[in-house]
Amino acid sequence: MKELVFATHNRNKLEEIRQMLPGGIHLLSLDEIGCREAIPETAPTLEGNARLKAQYVRDRYGYDCIADDTGLEVEALGGAPGVYSARYAGVQADARANTDKLLEALQPYENRKARFRTVIALTEGGTCRFFEGVAEGEILTAPKGNGGFGYDPVFKPAGHSRSFAELSRDEKNKISHRGKAFRAMQAYMVAGGASGPV
Ligand code: IMP
Repeated sequence: MKELVFATHNRNKLEEIRQMLPGGIHLLSLDEIGCREAIPETAPTLEGNARLKAQYVRDRYGYDCIADDTGLEVEALGGAPGVYSARYAGVQADARANTDKLLEALQPYENRKARFRTVIALTEGGTCRFFEGVAEGEILTAPKGNGGFGYDPVFKPAGHSRSFAELSRDEKNKISHRGKAFRAMQAYMVAGGASGPV
């Protein structure tokens, strides 16, 4: 059984991914390998942060690892908040403060196009491979819906009339950035990963 770490402390995320992996892979959490420290996320890009986290686990704990990073990229704001989405309104900011700041920053613009982007880094021995998932959409003028988290209440995916916060978890997963990125990685692993046909 091949052991693989998912660089997260979030049990929900871990269980979701566990269900997507092919047989023969035992997915471990950071807690299970004794990694309790905060892993630095200091890179200026999603790719850089995902790689930093995966490589950190590889270098210090010796396990192959998957790590993800997500950002909301708003066209009129030149791609902001992007890699800084979690701390857009400050290091201690909660989702409401981040969302309020975004709505205010977008007030002068008619162009409300935005996309969520997730990047996954997978380390296998000395190599690092990336998988990406994108959800295109637009930023609403006011929050709608009570589900989801983060920027979900102000993000309306393209081709839908409801915000992410108004979709069920399954509905969101089918079209979301994270769902797409993890399915891309799943397809790679089902095909045998680095040792199989790519
Ligand atoms: P993380 O890389 O998954 O921790 O995401 C970084 C930040 O992006 C989070 O703190 C959220 O603010 C935001 N975010 C990530 N994924 C989503 C999502 O699916 N919906 C809404 N906000 C998200």
